[in-house]
Amino acid sequence: MVNRKMYRPAVTALAGYVPGEQPPPGKYIKLNTNENPYPPPREVVDAIKQAAEGPLNRYPDPIANAFRIAAAEALGLPGPEWVLAGNGSDEILTLLVRGFVGEGEKLRIPFPSYVLYRTLADIQGAVWEQVSFNDQWELPAEFSDAAGNLKLALLPNPNSPSGTVVSRSQIVELSDRLECPLVVDEAYADFADENCVSLVLEHDNILVTRTLSKSYGLAGIRFGFLIAKPEVVAELSKIKDSYNCDAISIAAATAAMKCSGWLAENCRKIIATRTRMSVELEKLGFLVTPSHANFVWCRHQQIRHAEIYEFLKSQQVLVRLMDFGESGDGLRISVGTDQQVDAVLHLLKSYLS
Ligand SMILES: *Cc1c(COP(=O)(O)O)cnc(C)c1O
Repeated sequence: MVNRKMYRPAVTALAGYVPGEQPPPGKYIKLNTNENPYPPPREVVDAIKQAAEGPLNRYPDPIANAFRIAAAEALGLPGPEWVLAGNGSDEILTLLVRGFVGEGEKLRIPFPSYVLYRTLADIQGAVWEQVSFNDQWELPAEFSDAAGNLKLALLPNPNSPSGTVVSRSQIVELSDRLECPLVVDEAYADFADENCVSLVLEHDNILVTRTLSKSYGLAGIRFGFLIAKPEVVAELSKIKDSYNCDAISIAAATAAMKCSGWLAENCRKIIATRTRMSVELEKLGFLVTPSHANFVWCRHQQIRHAEIYEFLKSQQVLVRLMDFGESGDGLRISVGTDQQVDAVLHLLKSYLS
């Protein structure tokens, strides 16, 4: 018999992270979780089929070396030992928190940003400390202030839900002042003008995480990775599950890393749609934060966001309504196909006029 008192207190106290809704396929135009609206490259689907032919009775490569070689090649890293593969970048974030932040120790994150970071700290029994962006979505230098027990800083860049970026030069300044590792979560970096991959080579305490869920259109296979100094990769490998990535996802992710032409073209399309969508939303009375990601953060000047959210949902369109208390609320809308975006704009136009 299991009762409430048997769990670790950190677990009973937990609210649990609530991801965006995943309704059965087909019912909604789904613009709530920043998935890619396009299917992944053909080569990836072929690689999955081939991997399904086996040998599935054998365990997969525990360190996914084929993937690490392909990723190092694609990103211009010195070698595969700079890459740690994970079951989604969420697993990589878990390993980072588990590896660096002990019970009662401190994790620093910006606010508003990715809510999962707080859950990971809570699971660990660690303390999270938020530094608020200003109203221009700039990050105060205070993010790098020294603090007792500060063990890790996590910075999504581009940020979610804003789609804004902290410049590479500011990231270098922050890392120089911080006395702990600075993790730059680059889930959306393929949609931005710059990224921090090369900084990992030059700065001891900068680590970068990436995912195949957004720009590669592979949220369904769960694959992400860490780019870090070989010592960091080796140390964190000790605390991962032995076979954290399965044979099918390794095959898919390895094939994906070789599709640089597909990636560039897909990002180009999404960025073009993002630009058009931002302009049109502004015409409808939204304040749209200039985005460097595959979603836009927008706030309407007259109508309540909850009302717009409910209206869209009633019309089979899912977007993300986010409420940050004193920092206000807004809608985060993923960039869909041109056709999906036109449908949403059309609905909004009829509702708001
Ligand atoms: C989507 C997202 C991730 C999660 O990526 P997975 O690889 O699907 O686990 C990580 N960080 C941020 C900021 C994200 O938005």
